[in-house]
Amino acid sequence: MKKTDAKKQLSRREAFSVVWASFRLFLREMPELVISGLVVRIFAAVSPYAGIWFSARLVDELAGDKDPQKLMLWAGLALICAALISLASAFLERWRGAVRWTTWRRHERLYAEKLLRMDYVKCEDTAVQQHFFTVQKNWHNAGHSIGDAIDIFEGLISAVASILAGVGMTLSFFQSRVPPAGGALQVLDRPAMLILAAGLILLASLLPPALSNRAGQIVANVAGEFVRAENLFLHFGYLGIKRKIATDIRLFRLEKFSDRYNTDKENTFFSRGLFAKMMRGKVGLLYASGAAASQLFSGAVYLYVCLKAWAGAFGIGAVTQYVASISRVASGVSELLSFAGKVRVEAPFIKLGLDFLNIPEEMYQGTLSVEKRRDREYEVEFRNVSFRYPGAEDFALKNVSLRFRVGSRLAVVGENGSGKTTFIKLLCRLYDPTEGEILLNGIDIRKYDPEDYYRVFAVVFQDYSLPAFCLRQIVAAGEGDPARVEECLRKVGFGEKLDALPDGIETYITKGYDRSGVDLSGGEAQKVAIARALYKDAPFIILDEPTASLDPVAEAEIYEHFAEISGDRTAVYISHRLSSCKFCDEIAVFDHGRVVQQGSHEALLADTEGKYHALWNAQAQYYNQ
Ligand code: ADP
Repeated sequence: MKKTDAKKQLSRREAFSVVWASFRLFLREMPELVISGLVVRIFAAVSPYAGIWFSARLVDELAGDKDPQKLMLWAGLALICAALISLASAFLERWRGAVRWTTWRRHERLYAEKLLRMDYVKCEDTAVQQHFFTVQKNWHNAGHSIGDAIDIFEGLISAVASILAGVGMTLSFFQSRVPPAGGALQVLDRPAMLILAAGLILLASLLPPALSNRAGQIVANVAGEFVRAENLFLHFGYLGIKRKIATDIRLFRLEKFSDRYNTDKENTFFSRGLFAKMMRGKVGLLYASGAAASQLFSGAVYLYVCLKAWAGAFGIGAVTQYVASISRVASGVSELLSFAGKVRVEAPFIKLGLDFLNIPEEMYQGTLSVEKRRDREYEVEFRNVSFRYPGAEDFALKNVSLRFRVGSRLAVVGENGSGKTTFIKLLCRLYDPTEGEILLNGIDIRKYDPEDYYRVFAVVFQDYSLPAFCLRQIVAAGEGDPARVEECLRKVGFGEKLDALPDGIETYITKGYDRSGVDLSGGEAQKVAIARALYKDAPFIILDEPTASLDPVAEAEIYEHFAEISGDRTAVYISHRLSSCKFCDEIAVFDHGRVVQQGSHEALLADTEGKYHALWNAQAQYYNQ
């Protein structure tokens, strides 16, 4: 998928603007993280020069007059300076650590909040899902995230600070001249010689980062393979702990797959795998040459500075100052380059993260509030509604026109894939129609404030899920009123189970949150989901195949109590089991995305040519109806 392809190279300018955009995002969202990082890095880059300067003066004095008072003064100042620097850097590091600790979750939250804000239709879009998981895997498995922009900018800025301070400390090196007594070594002051020296210094500072950038780029190009191999490892490496597969592993001896994965030397991370090969080959060579070039450079600088000192251009103290400063300038230049290289390596990953965060929210957010009616007189109308899923060729719903009034019980029936769930999701405004409109009390539902509109519906979808909280919190979707929670649970036939639970409605469901939590069967969980819908006390209650995982007794129980359960609410009941819908006031029959029939059970059954009649007879073979 093009969108999720982090390998695509960006131009230098594009890469820089992507990294800059991410840096600005962090500066806006977590300024203290960015600022503390900058302060720490700049301090770490500049502070060593103070020590270098004092040590140089001390060495000069030792090599020169050896005045005890001056020696004491320089030694004392060097010590105080070193102590203050370590104190300050310890303090700054602590501060940075504390800020990091308190803000790092916010980076995750940027995604969490985006996921909650995003149009529902996009949450379902597999391309969007793939995009999100690629971003997450790049981050958590391969270490590439939008947060790298902070590191890059801090690195760039601290490298510039280091270079500027170092250049300041080295200026006098180029000004100090070899005296005539230096004889032939006066050649060192020749402009050509200076240019050569500066050129060599520059070359030696450029070479190591250029080599390691190249190596980094090669490694980044196989980030996809890294993620894939990590996924395999997580899958096969931990097969034994996977609850869903634990029985299959034992009965089918599936661990042999795991063994094969764990022992095959060709696997990506193993001794004959991709990464080992890369490290033994080109990538390793590039890293090693980079390190060697930087050592050669140190030797050359030492030689040049010492020759000048030997020729009498400056004292021995200055040698330490110049050697240390030039080395630091060079490493500053190296850093600058390697961070500049990192811009290009990281930019595609950062772009992927930012593109996700910037996915537009296109659903119109109205502002009208839904009229709160004590009499619950709400009327919903679908007017010529058609809907096509993004990327799909066919319409999932076509020209649906339907009207239902408060207090009635509407059944929506049809074969699998006929559009029943899509119809409900449109009604709840999880999607907007591609064509046509849906009206609540005569007003297009897009005009309502979505939060307010959602309050009108209590839905139990087929693929509902219960959070791992206690029953009270699950049913109330919050803290809730214990008596009402219990009442709702009993109404849906959960009473017997509730009495058997150790902590009643305070019992945790699953062990995710509490070790003493209990697991519910599919049918029990479905009852809890229905109780949650009841608790919401919305004017509309919608049950999408609510009895799919209930046993026949529990199913009968729900039907018997359905009138009581739904009370004066408008109930919409979806099922492909027709026998479940007989008791509804009206039945809408869906077929290939269209409403092909509508009426009472008796009226529909009487139409022997109709779809309902055909479906009924097909199913009657299996049920004694
Ligand atoms: P039902 O609830 O009657 O089983 P659905 O409303 O789930 O039917 O599906 C109607 C049609 O829309 C089917 O052809 C189905 O494949 C398609 N469909 C459902 N959900 C999606 C989706 N998220 N993306 C693309 N197509 C979908």
